[in-house]
Formats: sequence, C-alpha cells, structure tokens
Amino acid sequence: MKLDNCIFCKIANGEIPSRTVYEDADFRAILDLGPATKGHTLILPKEHAANLYELPEETAAKVLPVAKKIAALMQEKLGCDGLNLVQNNGEVAGQTVKHFHLHVIPRYEGDGQTILWKPTEPAAEELDGVLAKLK
Ligand code: AMP
Ligand code: ZN
Repeated sequence: MKLDNCIFCKIANGEIPSRTVYEDADFRAILDLGPATKGHTLILPKEHAANLYELPEETAAKVLPVAKKIAALMQEKLGCDGLNLVQNNGEVAGQTVKHFHLHVIPRYEGDGQTILWKPTEPAAEELDGVLAKLK
C-alpha cells in the first residue's frame, strides 16, 4: 500500500525523482539530501510502513541483505573506513519522515561526525529488572 501524502512512498515508487543507488522489486535506496557523510544512503521499502513496528516481517527480513549490498558498494567505490546503520522510530528517537527507512552512513577517518550515545551506569538490580520485564 502507498500513502498519498507520503513523500518517501512517492520517491520509492519513482513518482518523485531521486538519486537512486540501488533498486529491486521491494526497495529503492537513495542518496540522502542532507547527508551526514559522503554517500549517506536511505533504503526505502516501496510499500508504506510508518516504522519498524508496521514493517511486515518478510520486508524486514529482506532489508539487511540490501544494506549489505550498499555497504559493499560504499567500501569498493567510495573507500569508506567504516559504516553505521541507523534506523529511527518515533519523534523521540529522531524520526522525521514517517515512512520506514534504514540509514546507511559510510564513515571516514576524521569525518567529524558523532553517531553515538552517552553511556549510563545502571546498578545491577536495574539491569536485572529490565531483563525480567523483557523475558
Ligand atoms: P529520519 O530523521 O531518520 O526520519 O531521517 C530522515 C532523513 O531523510 C534525513 O536524513 C533527511 O536528510 C532525509 N530526507 C528528507 N527528505 C528527503 C528527500 N526528499 N530526499 C532524500 N532525503 C531526504
Ligand atoms: Zn510512505
């Protein structure tokens, strides 16, 4: 299903032009217009899903192989030194476009980007409490 007012639906299905790095029956991977680094790519499913929660399992299973192809491309063609996969769900997590997308961000020595979090120091009981909830 496509959403009429969703820009990534339109891009993924070729209704709006994009700098397409890779395309198959299920996905289009495009250059991000506001890249963190040279080659920052977004993998978009052609079917609309707002986020990971809505993404069908079979699409979820296909997305990482696509990321692997793009990762290889970035290493071979752009000579990146490393790579981050980032996938934001919900505003609190930094999601700005409500159509699932996986960021593939090549990293270069000295690129000046920080895609990191600030580690906390929970007590063992707190970790155990979280584990008990998740099990
Ligand atoms: P997120 O914050 O995870 O929702 O990421 C949205 C990403 O989409 C950002 O990195 C934007 O730079 C990028 N973006 C937004 N609109 C477009 C567009 N029309 N074409 C390419 N990238 C876009
Ligand atoms: Zn959409």
